[in-house]
Amino acid sequence: MHAAIIAVGSELLTHTRLDTNSLYLTEKLNDMGVEVVQKLIVGDHRGGLEKAVRYALESAQLLILTGGLGPTEDDLTREAVAAATDRAIHFDPEVCAWLEARFQSFGRTMSEINKRQAYVLEGAEVLPNGRGTAPGQWLSLPHNQIVVLLPGPPGEMKPMAGQEFFPRLQKILPPLALATATFRVSGIGESDLDALIAPIYKPYERPVTTILAKAGDITVHLRTQATTQTEADALTSELAAKIEAALGNKIYSHDGSPLEAAVLRLLEAKGQTVAVAESLTGGMLGSRLSGIAGASKVFVGGFISYNNGQKQSLLGVDPWAIAEHTEVSEEVALQMAVGAQERANAHWALSLTGYAGPDGGTAENPVGTVFCGIAGPGGFRKAHRFRYPTGDRDRIRQFAVQSALNLLRLTLI
Ligand code: ATP
Ligand code: MG
Repeated sequence: MHAAIIAVGSELLTHTRLDTNSLYLTEKLNDMGVEVVQKLIVGDHRGGLEKAVRYALESAQLLILTGGLGPTEDDLTREAVAAATDRAIHFDPEVCAWLEARFQSFGRTMSEINKRQAYVLEGAEVLPNGRGTAPGQWLSLPHNQIVVLLPGPPGEMKPMAGQEFFPRLQKILPPLALATATFRVSGIGESDLDALIAPIYKPYERPVTTILAKAGDITVHLRTQATTQTEADALTSELAAKIEAALGNKIYSHDGSPLEAAVLRLLEAKGQTVAVAESLTGGMLGSRLSGIAGASKVFVGGFISYNNGQKQSLLGVDPWAIAEHTEVSEEVALQMAVGAQERANAHWALSLTGYAGPDGGTAENPVGTVFCGIAGPGGFRKAHRFRYPTGDRDRIRQFAVQSALNLLRLTLI
């Protein structure tokens, strides 16, 4: 089945608001085997909206509109769909009574304009709104076409889609089996990764392989649609096994969980703890670790030692080491890690010091240079120098956090 989505609302044509509803709907529709072939964003103009509906219905069997179901003059979706599909809309007393009861339950009386929301397209089923007041509608057209009206606010649209729209859609779709596999990978660049696995996945029409890259973090996703579950599973595991073999320990997660979760799991299995000492990342590393529920068993805390004075007083870094090697050096990274390990009384400590830019850096260590230090049990010491592309301060900081976590992960395994 082919679908089109129209996001209605003039605010979605400004730079302040993004149409996220269609992203959500597309993901769910794809999971059900429905392909989205068209997305439109249309302002609150009745004529334009009517044209867009006619246009979308030329190529899609399923058309979903979100937004414009409110009670005000600029909420025109119902009227525009009625005009585009040549049908009447009528006032529905039952919907009106539901709306009145809804307002009463908020302790308010319904105003006259809200009656606009009780208008229903001829032949449409009303989809109740559990979160707001605007009811949705499901309209079957001749030639097996369907038009669905959903509210604009994501907090209303998502529950209505989940409870009312998708179940109705599921009933009319042919049976479909789906299998997926996810690998999250660190410690390799996107182009190197693709060079490594493209020869493996290219020959396969199914699964469909997608690669999503963020700073120092790549997700490889396999997805197979088939008529039976056995077939979908078999096709997926065949390719998954080959990709797994090629990527080896670069894979840190099979269930979509993030890198810090893998690190915490490894430490917890060993009954060990970790502390952090951060300069250029200013707490980002600690934030990532503490973002995982249950982290307190493993993550003890950290030090934000941004300037040199704090590196000395918080972590006991030797002023001589800074004078001799500068604060962005292997020596200082190691001393930061050792200081954090001792002062937080943790088994392990990770440190980060570097130049995030745009200014700073030296000829030897330009902007984008980061040193990560690791101190571990039994006098374990290691430092690693990373060089990231310059230009984006935040990206360098994200890369640094990712590299530090991955370094500890690889050390632990
Ligand atoms: P309401 O009864 O709240 O007016 P509505 O169905 O008329 O509901 P809109 O007025 O079109 O919805 O949108 C309300 C708000 O919902 C918008 O200001 C916007 O913040 C959010 N919204 C609308 N459409 C989208 C979209 N496609 N993606 C993300 N947010 C959206
Ligand atoms: Mg509105």
